Amino acid sequence: MSRFAHPAGDRHAEMLPQERPPLAPADLNRINPAIWPRTSTRTEGALTVGGVDVRDLARDHGTPLYVIDEDDVRSRMRDYATAFAGSEVHYAGKAFLCKEIVRWLQAEGLGLDVASAGELAVALSVGFPAERITMHGNNKSVAELTRALEAGVGHIVVDSYDEIARLGFLAEQHGKRPKVMIRVTTGVEAHTHEFIATAHDDQKFGLSLNTGAAAEAVRRILALPQLELVGLHSHIGSQIVDTAGFEVAARRLTALLVQIKDEHGVVLPELDLGGGYGIAYVEGDEAPDIKELADGLREIVSKVCVDAGLPVPRLTVEPGRTVVGPGGVTLYEVGTIKDVEGLRTYVSVNGGMSDNVRTALYGAEYTAVLASRASEAEPMLSRLVGKHCESGDIIVRDLHLPADLAPGDLIAVAATGAYCRSLASNYNYLPRPAVVAVSGGVSRVIVQGETEDDLLRGQL
Ligand SMILES: *Cc1c(COP(=O)(O)O)cnc(C)c1O
Repeated sequence: MSRFAHPAGDRHAEMLPQERPPLAPADLNRINPAIWPRTSTRTEGALTVGGVDVRDLARDHGTPLYVIDEDDVRSRMRDYATAFAGSEVHYAGKAFLCKEIVRWLQAEGLGLDVASAGELAVALSVGFPAERITMHGNNKSVAELTRALEAGVGHIVVDSYDEIARLGFLAEQHGKRPKVMIRVTTGVEAHTHEFIATAHDDQKFGLSLNTGAAAEAVRRILALPQLELVGLHSHIGSQIVDTAGFEVAARRLTALLVQIKDEHGVVLPELDLGGGYGIAYVEGDEAPDIKELADGLREIVSKVCVDAGLPVPRLTVEPGRTVVGPGGVTLYEVGTIKDVEGLRTYVSVNGGMSDNVRTALYGAEYTAVLASRASEAEPMLSRLVGKHCESGDIIVRDLHLPADLAPGDLIAVAATGAYCRSLASNYNYLPRPAVVAVSGGVSRVIVQGETEDDLLRGQL
């Protein structure tokens, strides 16, 4: 894999998209249950999610609109809690965080990872227990660390020597003794099927195993009695569909655990293997089964620790995308349709890179359908684009839509629950869309859409 290849972009790297238009699906109306939210179906031709017709959603809440299938997301949270019983599951809040998601996490028994004071504030605002929160980040400010200490978060994952010194000072000042883990760069980088297990040290995250920085961090933390070192952390990539990369990472981390035991006589009780499990965005994508993943990861951790003569540490995993990704759908209205003679048809919708930047950012792939009605028209090779002033403002690069598509039709894009709202912007002064949760035939707003007043707020 190229050093520059991006996780989700690899599949586009070999050939220009124009040279490989996707095969037209036999049935453009199909809602593939492997890709769409668990409750989605077509009723009288129109897509329904959580028992709510998308035409009603558009009428009641407007478009673009982020739609979250509450039953889908909560059942995935429960699946994780059940499959990893005895271990810790911390949802990675950066995938999508709002007060209601935090309430669901609490109800379903999951912990939470935050990566800023803002994410921490969302969790604390609805009374999420601080001891079930882990604070991450490669450049946590003094204010953020102070906030985390005052709140009493369960773990802080330290990422640099500077931070060890900073946190040591603050902990002493506040009379606290936080539990800390060290973010270790194991040299394993994994995306989808491939992983590379070399010395991938050239990145901003973590302390390198290879260069000895991680072992030095252990020394520095153990020298500070106000910090309680409890374990090692590693996060190896994204959209990973098998456990091979985790096995190499676990083996390398365990070797460090042995070294720590030999050098300091300390046996660290916790191991955090991060997240990064894949979901299905397009036809043919694989998504690991949560139960199999849990069994696989636990087996790996016990095996490598037993081999190394260490007690099996408490395992923590940090899924983000797999929890909220599949349950999310974005609804748009078609505005203009432009046929570029001999090439393809550009279908423009009323959102774009401001509500879903993943395609523009790293060539992500998505599935989209005509959602407001079924159609028997011929497939039309299309590109689904937004309304922004960038030609890279693409939502789905290559797809087939029915040839009778018309302005006013609704388009739904699948699997947008993760890293869409959380990466949204106000580019071109577009208000960020509302997020509605749907369940049992009812829709309710969980994050309000922005208004023109919101866009102008704060300007002097
Ligand atoms: C992003 C991130 C995750 C979650 O990754 P997903 O691909 O969404 O599962 C977990 N842990 C850490 C430290 C992360 O940075």
